[in-house]
Amino acid sequence: MKEIIQGRRLGTGERVEFEYDESETNIVRKSGASCESNLTTHAERIYPDVPVIIAPARARVGGVVDGQKIVLFTDSLGRQQQTNLFHELWHHAEKCAISAGDLETVYKEVAGGDDWDCDYLNEPRERAARAFEHYASARASGLQFTPARKGTAQAIFERLYEGTEHAAHLKRRRQERWEPVMSWVRPLAALAAMVGVFIGIPHFLF
Ligand SMILES: [Zn+2]
Repeated sequence: MKEIIQGRRLGTGERVEFEYDESETNIVRKSGASCESNLTTHAERIYPDVPVIIAPARARVGGVVDGQKIVLFTDSLGRQQQTNLFHELWHHAEKCAISAGDLETVYKEVAGGDDWDCDYLNEPRERAARAFEHYASARASGLQFTPARKGTAQAIFERLYEGTEHAAHLKRRRQERWEPVMSWVRPLAALAAMVGVFIGIPHFLF
């Protein structure tokens, strides 16, 4: 069924009117199930232990993180939600896993991006989240990037996308948990080694 659509030309106030027949357009309606498994695969690789909650769509916000969970506000799981998921995964990692030094590297690099004429969109956190969502989307689409140089935002994105940032985070947490024990074990081990030198060597000599 043909409709008359009223539009506006980008960057101008010029009005544009055109005919459109949705039934003649190639509209791909993917089943929700395949998008669900796509999103699940990415979430589980990047951040396996954070639950992603799907909640009813809201007009002004696509997603939110609180350090415990990721929420995507959407009524259907389409391909746009993949981008939103990457965006919110970045915000979660920013809060919970990425070191202050690495954040500084990313924020410094993305500061040279577009001026959006909007304080919120120009914030370093938002610039970084958009940069990660686009990097991750490109990789999810199969693009082969050359391995990133150390000390670049891409190197930090690479670790997060591939799931190694999360593994490194768990390792750091494990080490922190054992640190109180190790702070006792280390001097005791050193003492034992010294005792070994005094007792062991003469014993070995005679
Ligand atoms: Zn954001």
